[in-house]
Amino acid sequence: MKKGIAFLLSAVLCVAGLTACSSQTTSAGNTESSSSTESTSAGTSEAKTDGGAVSTLEEGKLIAGTNAAFPPFEYLGDNGAPDGFDVALIKAIGDKLGLEVEVQDMEFNSLVASVGNKIDVAIAGMTVTEERLQEVDFSDAYYEAVQYVIVPSGSEIASADDLTGKTIGVQLGTTGDFIATDLEDAGDATVQRYDKAVDAVNDLINGRVDLVIIDKNPALVFEGNFEGKVTALDGAQFDFEIENYAIALPKGSALVSQVNQALAELKEDGTFDKLVSQYIEEAE
Ligand code: GLN
Repeated sequence: MKKGIAFLLSAVLCVAGLTACSSQTTSAGNTESSSSTESTSAGTSEAKTDGGAVSTLEEGKLIAGTNAAFPPFEYLGDNGAPDGFDVALIKAIGDKLGLEVEVQDMEFNSLVASVGNKIDVAIAGMTVTEERLQEVDFSDAYYEAVQYVIVPSGSEIASADDLTGKTIGVQLGTTGDFIATDLEDAGDATVQRYDKAVDAVNDLINGRVDLVIIDKNPALVFEGNFEGKVTALDGAQFDFEIENYAIALPKGSALVSQVNQALAELKEDGTFDKLVSQYIEEAE
Protein backbone atom coordinates (compact mmCIF):
# COMPACT_ATOMS: atom_id res chain seq x y z
CA MET A 1 0.00 0.00 0.00
CA LYS A 2 1.13 3.53 -0.72
CA LYS A 3 2.86 5.27 2.15
CA GLY A 4 0.54 7.72 3.84
CA ILE A 5 -2.84 8.70 2.63
CA ALA A 6 -2.41 12.39 3.15
CA PHE A 7 -1.60 13.07 -0.46
CA LEU A 8 -4.72 11.27 -1.61
CA LEU A 9 -6.73 14.19 -0.42
CA SER A 10 -4.56 16.72 -2.14
CA ALA A 11 -7.78 17.95 -3.67
CA VAL A 12 -8.76 19.31 -0.30
CA LEU A 13 -7.77 22.86 -0.48
CA CYS A 14 -6.74 26.17 0.71
CA VAL A 15 -6.98 26.57 4.44
CA ALA A 16 -7.22 30.30 4.06
CA GLY A 17 -8.55 32.52 1.34
CA LEU A 18 -10.85 29.98 -0.23
CA THR A 19 -12.42 32.40 -2.62
CA ALA A 20 -9.02 33.21 -3.98
CA CYS A 21 -8.80 29.61 -5.12
CA SER A 22 -11.93 29.76 -7.21
CA SER A 23 -11.99 30.92 -10.76
CA GLN A 24 -14.73 33.41 -11.39
CA THR A 25 -14.81 33.32 -15.12
CA THR A 26 -18.18 31.75 -15.65
CA SER A 27 -21.71 31.84 -14.37
CA ALA A 28 -22.63 28.57 -16.08
CA GLY A 29 -25.44 26.81 -14.31
CA ASN A 30 -26.63 29.96 -12.63
CA THR A 31 -30.16 30.07 -13.95
CA GLU A 32 -31.58 32.95 -12.04
CA SER A 33 -35.27 33.63 -12.16
CA SER A 34 -36.48 36.49 -14.27
CA SER A 35 -37.44 38.30 -11.11
CA SER A 36 -33.77 38.75 -10.32
CA THR A 37 -32.87 42.32 -9.76
CA GLU A 38 -29.20 42.17 -10.61
CA SER A 39 -27.04 40.44 -13.08
CA THR A 40 -24.29 38.02 -12.16
CA SER A 41 -22.67 37.74 -15.51
CA ALA A 42 -19.30 36.11 -15.99
CA GLY A 43 -16.56 37.55 -13.89
CA THR A 44 -18.83 39.91 -11.99
CA SER A 45 -18.97 38.99 -8.36
CA GLU A 46 -19.42 42.38 -6.80
CA ALA A 47 -21.84 42.28 -3.94
CA LYS A 48 -24.52 44.85 -3.45
CA THR A 49 -24.36 44.83 0.28
CA ASP A 50 -25.38 48.44 0.85
CA GLY A 51 -29.07 47.77 0.97
CA GLY A 52 -29.02 46.42 -2.60
CA ALA A 53 -31.23 43.50 -3.54
CA VAL A 54 -29.95 39.96 -3.07
CA SER A 55 -30.40 37.91 -6.19
CA THR A 56 -31.73 34.39 -5.63
CA LEU A 57 -33.78 31.83 -7.56
CA GLU A 58 -37.00 33.04 -5.93
CA GLU A 59 -37.17 36.66 -4.91
CA GLY A 60 -36.97 37.18 -1.16
CA LYS A 61 -36.10 33.53 -0.56
CA LEU A 62 -32.88 31.62 -0.03
CA ILE A 63 -33.32 27.97 -0.97
CA ALA A 64 -30.64 25.91 0.78
CA GLY A 65 -29.96 22.28 -0.05
CA THR A 66 -28.62 19.90 2.55
CA ASN A 67 -28.49 16.18 3.29
CA ALA A 68 -30.16 15.81 6.66
CA ALA A 69 -28.32 12.62 7.66
CA PHE A 70 -25.06 14.07 8.92
CA PRO A 71 -25.37 14.88 12.61
CA PRO A 72 -24.64 17.25 14.27
CA PHE A 73 -24.47 19.43 11.14
CA GLU A 74 -27.79 18.30 9.71
CA TYR A 75 -30.41 15.77 10.70
CA LEU A 76 -34.18 15.53 10.80
CA GLY A 77 -35.56 17.07 13.98
CA ASP A 78 -38.47 15.74 16.02
CA ASN A 79 -40.94 17.52 13.76
CA GLY A 80 -39.41 15.86 10.68
CA ALA A 81 -37.85 19.10 9.42
CA PRO A 82 -34.10 19.51 8.84
CA ASP A 83 -32.24 20.79 11.90
CA GLY A 84 -28.62 20.99 13.04
CA PHE A 85 -25.69 23.41 13.00
CA ASP A 86 -25.71 24.06 9.25
CA VAL A 87 -29.47 24.58 9.20
CA ALA A 88 -29.27 27.09 12.05
CA LEU A 89 -26.30 28.80 10.40
CA ILE A 90 -27.95 29.25 7.01
CA LYS A 91 -31.11 30.54 8.69
CA ALA A 92 -29.01 33.11 10.56
CA ILE A 93 -27.30 34.07 7.28
CA GLY A 94 -30.72 34.41 5.63
CA ASP A 95 -31.83 36.72 8.46
CA LYS A 96 -28.79 38.93 7.87
CA LEU A 97 -29.55 39.09 4.15
CA GLY A 98 -33.26 39.71 4.67
CA LEU A 99 -34.19 36.42 3.00
CA GLU A 100 -36.61 33.76 4.09
CA VAL A 101 -34.70 30.47 4.21
CA GLU A 102 -36.20 27.25 2.86
CA VAL A 103 -34.14 24.12 3.54
CA GLN A 104 -34.48 21.20 1.13
CA ASP A 105 -33.31 17.72 2.09
CA MET A 106 -31.57 16.03 -0.85
CA GLU A 107 -28.97 13.35 -1.58
CA PHE A 108 -25.49 14.62 -0.77
CA ASN A 109 -24.23 13.50 -4.15
CA SER A 110 -26.65 15.75 -6.06
CA LEU A 111 -26.09 18.94 -4.08
CA VAL A 112 -23.24 20.47 -6.11
CA ALA A 113 -25.03 19.98 -9.44
CA SER A 114 -28.19 21.56 -7.99
CA VAL A 115 -26.52 24.82 -6.89
CA GLY A 116 -27.78 27.69 -9.04
CA ASN A 117 -30.68 25.77 -10.57
CA LYS A 118 -32.69 23.87 -7.91
CA ILE A 119 -31.11 25.52 -4.88
CA ASP A 120 -29.33 28.81 -4.21
CA VAL A 121 -26.75 27.34 -1.86
CA ALA A 122 -25.66 23.98 -0.50
CA ILE A 123 -24.73 23.73 3.16
CA ALA A 124 -23.97 20.17 4.19
CA GLY A 125 -20.69 19.86 6.05
CA MET A 126 -19.29 20.15 2.56
CA THR A 127 -15.52 20.11 2.18
CA VAL A 128 -13.91 22.50 -0.27
CA THR A 129 -12.24 20.41 -2.97
CA GLU A 130 -10.58 21.21 -6.28
CA GLU A 131 -13.12 19.05 -8.08
CA ARG A 132 -16.14 20.85 -6.59
CA LEU A 133 -14.54 24.22 -7.34
CA GLN A 134 -14.90 23.37 -11.03
CA GLU A 135 -18.67 23.61 -10.58
CA VAL A 136 -19.33 25.99 -7.69
CA ASP A 137 -17.79 28.80 -5.69
CA PHE A 138 -17.38 28.40 -1.97
CA SER A 139 -17.93 30.86 0.85
CA ASP A 140 -15.17 31.45 3.37
CA ALA A 141 -14.55 28.29 5.34
CA TYR A 142 -16.59 28.06 8.54
CA TYR A 143 -15.43 24.79 10.11
CA GLU A 144 -12.30 22.64 10.15
CA ALA A 145 -12.79 18.89 9.93
CA VAL A 146 -10.94 15.65 9.31
CA GLN A 147 -12.01 12.18 8.25
CA TYR A 148 -12.30 9.61 11.05
CA VAL A 149 -12.36 5.84 10.89
CA ILE A 150 -15.19 3.97 12.62
CA VAL A 151 -14.40 0.35 13.49
CA PRO A 152 -16.22 -2.35 15.45
CA SER A 153 -15.17 -1.99 19.10
CA GLY A 154 -12.13 -4.18 19.75
CA SER A 155 -10.93 -4.03 16.13
CA GLU A 156 -7.17 -4.05 15.61
CA ILE A 157 -7.32 -1.43 12.85
CA ALA A 158 -5.19 1.48 14.04
CA SER A 159 -3.04 2.86 11.23
CA ALA A 160 -2.98 3.49 7.48
CA ASP A 161 -1.29 0.15 6.78
CA ASP A 162 -4.14 -1.69 8.51
CA LEU A 163 -6.56 -0.51 5.79
CA THR A 164 -4.95 -2.84 3.25
CA GLY A 165 -7.27 -5.57 2.01
CA LYS A 166 -10.26 -4.21 3.94
CA THR A 167 -13.82 -3.49 2.86
CA ILE A 168 -14.52 0.17 3.49
CA GLY A 169 -17.98 1.68 3.91
CA VAL A 170 -18.48 5.32 2.88
CA GLN A 171 -21.20 7.76 2.00
CA LEU A 172 -21.40 8.18 -1.77
CA GLY A 173 -19.67 11.24 -3.19
CA THR A 174 -18.01 12.37 0.03
CA THR A 175 -14.36 13.02 0.75
CA GLY A 176 -14.37 9.75 2.70
CA ASP A 177 -15.47 8.09 -0.56
CA PHE A 178 -12.59 9.83 -2.41
CA ILE A 179 -10.01 8.44 0.06
CA ALA A 180 -11.49 4.94 -0.13
CA THR A 181 -11.72 5.10 -3.92
CA ASP A 182 -8.02 5.96 -4.17
CA LEU A 183 -7.25 2.89 -2.05
CA GLU A 184 -9.53 0.80 -4.25
CA ASP A 185 -7.91 2.10 -7.43
CA ALA A 186 -4.52 1.13 -5.99
CA GLY A 187 -5.88 -2.39 -5.50
CA ASP A 188 -5.67 -2.06 -1.73
CA ALA A 189 -9.33 -2.08 -0.70
CA THR A 190 -12.93 -2.77 -1.64
CA VAL A 191 -15.49 0.02 -1.25
CA GLN A 192 -19.18 -0.16 -0.38
CA ARG A 193 -20.99 3.12 -1.05
CA TYR A 194 -24.16 4.19 0.73
CA ASP A 195 -26.55 7.11 0.30
CA LYS A 196 -26.81 7.43 4.07
CA ALA A 197 -23.86 7.23 6.43
CA VAL A 198 -25.92 5.45 9.07
CA ASP A 199 -26.49 2.54 6.66
CA ALA A 200 -22.71 2.15 6.40
CA VAL A 201 -22.46 2.08 10.19
CA ASN A 202 -25.23 -0.52 10.38
CA ASP A 203 -23.34 -2.69 7.90
CA LEU A 204 -20.21 -2.24 10.02
CA ILE A 205 -22.11 -3.65 12.98
CA ASN A 206 -23.48 -6.47 10.81
CA GLY A 207 -19.94 -7.30 9.66
CA ARG A 208 -20.53 -6.43 6.00
CA VAL A 209 -17.78 -3.80 6.03
CA ASP A 210 -14.60 -3.66 8.13
CA LEU A 211 -14.50 0.09 8.68
CA VAL A 212 -16.30 3.29 7.77
CA ILE A 213 -14.54 6.49 6.74
CA ILE A 214 -16.55 9.56 7.65
CA ASP A 215 -16.04 13.07 9.02
CA LYS A 216 -15.03 13.47 12.67
CA ASN A 217 -18.19 14.94 14.19
CA PRO A 218 -20.69 12.50 12.67
CA ALA A 219 -18.25 9.69 13.61
CA LEU A 220 -18.40 10.82 17.23
CA VAL A 221 -22.21 11.03 17.12
CA PHE A 222 -22.44 7.48 15.69
CA GLU A 223 -20.00 6.25 18.35
CA GLY A 224 -22.37 7.65 20.97
CA ASN A 225 -25.51 6.32 19.27
CA PHE A 226 -24.09 2.79 18.93
CA GLU A 227 -22.31 2.81 22.26
CA GLY A 228 -20.09 -0.18 22.95
CA LYS A 229 -20.51 -1.49 19.41
CA VAL A 230 -18.31 0.89 17.44
CA THR A 231 -15.26 3.04 18.11
CA ALA A 232 -14.30 6.24 16.28
CA LEU A 233 -10.58 6.64 15.55
CA ASP A 234 -8.85 9.95 14.88
CA GLY A 235 -7.94 10.41 11.21
CA ALA A 236 -4.49 11.65 12.24
CA GLN A 237 -3.65 7.98 12.92
CA PHE A 238 -4.31 7.35 9.25
CA ASP A 239 -2.54 10.47 7.93
CA PHE A 240 -5.80 12.03 6.75
CA GLU A 241 -5.57 15.72 5.94
CA ILE A 242 -7.44 18.60 7.48
CA GLU A 243 -10.53 19.63 5.50
CA ASN A 244 -12.57 22.82 5.49
CA TYR A 245 -16.33 23.13 5.33
CA ALA A 246 -17.84 25.97 3.33
CA ILE A 247 -21.13 26.89 1.71
CA ALA A 248 -21.38 26.11 -2.02
CA LEU A 249 -22.71 28.96 -4.18
CA PRO A 250 -23.28 29.55 -7.88
CA LYS A 251 -20.06 30.37 -9.70
CA GLY A 252 -19.47 34.08 -10.01
CA SER A 253 -22.59 34.94 -8.03
CA ALA A 254 -22.88 38.12 -5.98
CA LEU A 255 -24.17 35.84 -3.24
CA VAL A 256 -20.58 34.77 -2.50
CA SER A 257 -19.54 38.06 -0.94
CA GLN A 258 -22.98 38.66 0.54
CA VAL A 259 -22.88 35.31 2.33
CA ASN A 260 -19.29 35.95 3.41
CA GLN A 261 -20.24 39.29 4.87
CA ALA A 262 -23.18 37.76 6.76
CA LEU A 263 -20.89 34.98 8.03
CA ALA A 264 -18.32 37.53 9.21
CA GLU A 265 -21.05 39.46 11.05
CA LEU A 266 -22.30 36.29 12.75
CA LYS A 267 -18.76 35.53 13.91
CA GLU A 268 -18.33 39.09 15.10
CA ASP A 269 -21.58 39.25 17.08
CA GLY A 270 -21.10 35.88 18.80
CA THR A 271 -23.97 34.06 17.07
CA PHE A 272 -21.59 31.67 15.30
CA ASP A 273 -19.87 30.59 18.54
CA LYS A 274 -23.24 30.16 20.20
CA LEU A 275 -24.34 27.78 17.45
CA VAL A 276 -21.05 25.84 17.71
CA SER A 277 -21.55 25.22 21.41
CA GLN A 278 -25.28 24.54 21.04
CA TYR A 279 -25.07 22.05 18.18
CA ILE A 280 -21.51 20.74 17.89
CA GLU A 281 -19.88 20.79 21.31
CA GLU A 282 -22.98 19.39 22.99
CA ALA A 283 -22.92 16.42 20.60
CA GLU A 284 -19.31 15.50 21.42
N1 GLN B 1 -17.24 16.59 4.38
C1 GLN B 1 -17.57 15.51 3.52
C2 GLN B 1 -17.62 15.97 2.10
O1 GLN B 1 -17.69 17.13 1.83
C3 GLN B 1 -18.88 14.81 3.91
C4 GLN B 1 -20.08 15.69 3.89
C5 GLN B 1 -21.41 14.95 4.10
O2 GLN B 1 -21.48 13.74 4.06
N2 GLN B 1 -22.45 15.68 4.34
O3 GLN B 1 -17.61 15.20 1.19
